[in-house]
Amino acid sequence: MIPHDRSSQSMSPLLEIRHLNLDFGTPEGRIHALRNVSLDVAAAEVVGVVGESGSGKSTLAYTVMGLLSENADVTGGEILFDGRDLLKMPAQSRRSLLGDRLSMVFQDPMTALNPVRTIESQMIDIQHHEQKSRSEKRDRAIDMLHRVGIPDPQTRIGAYPHHFSGGMRQRICIAMALLVRPALLIADEPTTALDATLEVQIIHLLKDLQREIGCSVLFVSHHLGAVAELCDRVVVMYAGEVVEQGDVRGIFRNPGHPYTRALLECDPARLKRTTRTLPTISGEVPSLLGLQKGCIFSARCPQAFDRCVQEGPVDYPISAGQTARCHLLEEKRPVSA
Ligand code: ATP
Ligand code: SF4
Ligand code: MG
Repeated sequence: MIPHDRSSQSMSPLLEIRHLNLDFGTPEGRIHALRNVSLDVAAAEVVGVVGESGSGKSTLAYTVMGLLSENADVTGGEILFDGRDLLKMPAQSRRSLLGDRLSMVFQDPMTALNPVRTIESQMIDIQHHEQKSRSEKRDRAIDMLHRVGIPDPQTRIGAYPHHFSGGMRQRICIAMALLVRPALLIADEPTTALDATLEVQIIHLLKDLQREIGCSVLFVSHHLGAVAELCDRVVVMYAGEVVEQGDVRGIFRNPGHPYTRALLECDPARLKRTTRTLPTISGEVPSLLGLQKGCIFSARCPQAFDRCVQEGPVDYPISAGQTARCHLLEEKRPVSA
């Protein structure tokens, strides 16, 4: 059992993203990959980020981690973590947060694991912030491998990543990410490469460990079932914008944005009859090059009207904690910035 000795319970959110804008410079022009993104993650809260491919989910995750490619340019906004703006922090202080207060599980476990080093040496190294002896660190690593369901961890800790199956490797990555008892775990599609049975096991594992450690989780996924199972709140992204966010029940039972409704209608788990061809949202995600006039979803929205192509909507409240960015909600008061 991992002690929950890092109490980050406080009134203000652990992570506050405010009006974040990010461009990628490309030979074709600037891609506006994040547009005025705001969201909160409270202490011990699990927040899911969903949206079609290209909506900016990974870009958001990597921006928080400070792991962006060189052509990325944050053009505005704040990322407050424990009240400090990560974007204004000196590189050294920011780096020291990684693998300590902040850790990440990637879609491909090999991104996080070094193929030419044993699991033991990698799991000991990741504890470099801890004032413990090597044998204590080894014992903690074995305990964590046991927790994530690696059989015979005493022996297997000496093996190399390629000695494990894909599912086992992802369990090891989760063990490594949680070994440091982060305040915030960011998981970018951690189950996408796994089959359905393994996915369910990993989701349950993540949920158990999150409760045990008491960390917050930002869980990026295109799998709505996994999000419903794991998350307290959901953020729906479309073409670089957060178009709706709210608690998981509200988003699934009472979606306010036409895009959220379309996403839910395409979810295989919600289809009333079995079908060979899964429905998809018709039309394509708009180009993110240049600035968009009007609502970002207008070209595909079944409810679009004249104003939608002229003017971008603001966020409107739907219920406590749930907001959506759509003109149809205008009779409700806009959410103040
Ligand atoms: P997926 O579900 O496929 O993982 P995503 O929601 O994670 O998609 P991102 O990978 O964040 O989407 O991409 C958002 C947009 O930014 C896309 O249009 C993508 O092509 C673009 N993009 C991402 N990284 C770069 C980069 N380094 N240079 C240029 N464009 C990029
Ligand atoms: Fe559809 Fe208009 Fe609402 Fe955008 S603002 S989601 S185009 S109805
Ligand atoms: Mg992605």
